[in-house]
Amino acid sequence: MQPIIKKAEYEKYLKNHQDFIDDHKIWQQIKAHIQPDKTKVRAIIQKSLAIKTLTPDETATLINVQDPDLWQEMFVAADEIKKKVYDNRIVTFAPLYCSNHCLNNCLYCGFRRDNKDLKRNQLTLEQVRAETQAIAGKIGHKRIIAVYGEHPSSDIHYMVDTIKTIYSVKEKTKHGFGNIRRVNVNAAPMSVADLKLLKKAGIGTYQVFQETYHHETYQKMHPQDTIKGNYQWRLYALHRAFEAGIDDVAIGALFGLYDWRFEVMGLLYHAIELENKFGVGPHTISFPRLTPAQNAPASHPQHEVSDTDFKKLVTIIRLSVPYTGMIITAREKDQIKKQALSLGCTQTDASTKIGIGDYAKLAKKQKMNSQQFTIGDPRDLDTVVRELAEMGYITSFCTSGYRCGRTGEKIMDMLKCGQESHFCKINAILTFREWLDDFASPQTKKIGEKLIAQEIAEVKAQVPSKYSPELYASMLNNYEKIKSGTRDLYI
Ligand code: SAM
Ligand code: SF4
Repeated sequence: MQPIIKKAEYEKYLKNHQDFIDDHKIWQQIKAHIQPDKTKVRAIIQKSLAIKTLTPDETATLINVQDPDLWQEMFVAADEIKKKVYDNRIVTFAPLYCSNHCLNNCLYCGFRRDNKDLKRNQLTLEQVRAETQAIAGKIGHKRIIAVYGEHPSSDIHYMVDTIKTIYSVKEKTKHGFGNIRRVNVNAAPMSVADLKLLKKAGIGTYQVFQETYHHETYQKMHPQDTIKGNYQWRLYALHRAFEAGIDDVAIGALFGLYDWRFEVMGLLYHAIELENKFGVGPHTISFPRLTPAQNAPASHPQHEVSDTDFKKLVTIIRLSVPYTGMIITAREKDQIKKQALSLGCTQTDASTKIGIGDYAKLAKKQKMNSQQFTIGDPRDLDTVVRELAEMGYITSFCTSGYRCGRTGEKIMDMLKCGQESHFCKINAILTFREWLDDFASPQTKKIGEKLIAQEIAEVKAQVPSKYSPELYASMLNNYEKIKSGTRDLYI
């Protein structure tokens, strides 16, 4: 078997054997800005509001804010930035766990090879089809993130086959059909050659979490005799993705492994590195907190992040990298998710099942012996969409950006100048209409109808200043077509 790790593919990025995370410098920066001056903090907030990426020193300054009034201003600014870049849209998705076989031994994960009590399982393509039928045909998701352990049985060829299978499913619904229009992938770092195959399979976003940016903690959490034990192979995974032509990538850190302040700085350094090298920052940032996992000694965190600190870190990420999407997952309880959404999050999962094969089985209970960790918000998509609508958020099922080439540098430029929202707002209306007709409960439909009417009125009021009369007419035309059963229309 060919070795997985190709040293030459990351060593070429190192400077004097060093990667771009300098642990000592990060701590120095954090310590250099204690008790920051109010005027300075307010100037940084203004920079974020102008949708500009902060410097590490500026983020370190925000990390040190103690004054409750300043925090209040930062919370408000986070919400404002989110609205400026993403308006009132929230994107939803479902994770699809394809395989829990894993060669690695990460101390916090239920899939680790030393967990002998885990029921190991890998979906056959028929099972992938059944899972997708349940997700796209019964729940109504249009986006999936496919998740895999690192194992020869779930190699790149298996991934490509599962992705193709997911895209091939088309399920009849009440008034039309349901299908998955965007498959994102969360999988172990790969070689450039494998990533090219992933790109060819038509993935949306390629997501790799660094877990912890702190070198020493990384070594402790990921035994050195495992593939994941190589920090730099992982750190440069997304550089290789760009090399392979994937310009839509996502980063993340697993909060609780090390000090949250350091991890926020690590995420920022990673975003800046990608921006500088490839002209595009990460499409999304994730910030999962550790939850308990079976036979996983580190899943009870040494650096537990309190709810208060969690809200702070979400806010600082929003202010530091204003144009990126931010994902809050079902690991968090509904109340925290709700609060984080108003601090700038843009995506969340719903109807989440993380046991292998659990969507088709309609599994109700979480089973610790078949899943990676525990989830805090098991609510279904209908309930989540309804709650979002009550909060004034429209759930966008739009996947058009990636399908008509609005990705990478193109989308980032559009997001930074607020242009993307022209298409996004209209496509959110169209795809929400489709979802309401096909999947909503009567209760959700009622609230959804009210919201959609407001959204259409908002677009109308901005013709021609923001939307051209032609664009508006095209929206209304597509809207009527969707009402009478045409599906998958977008601008
Ligand atoms: N095997 C791939 C890898 O390691 O990149 C896929 C990742 S894993 C299936 C998805 C993510 O779940 C991990 O990157 C990690 O951040 C997160 N995770 C693992 N154990 C967790 C736990 N106990 N609580 C919360 N998140 C966890
Ligand atoms: Fe395997 Fe990923 Fe879990 Fe580590 S986090 S044990 S690599 S599935």
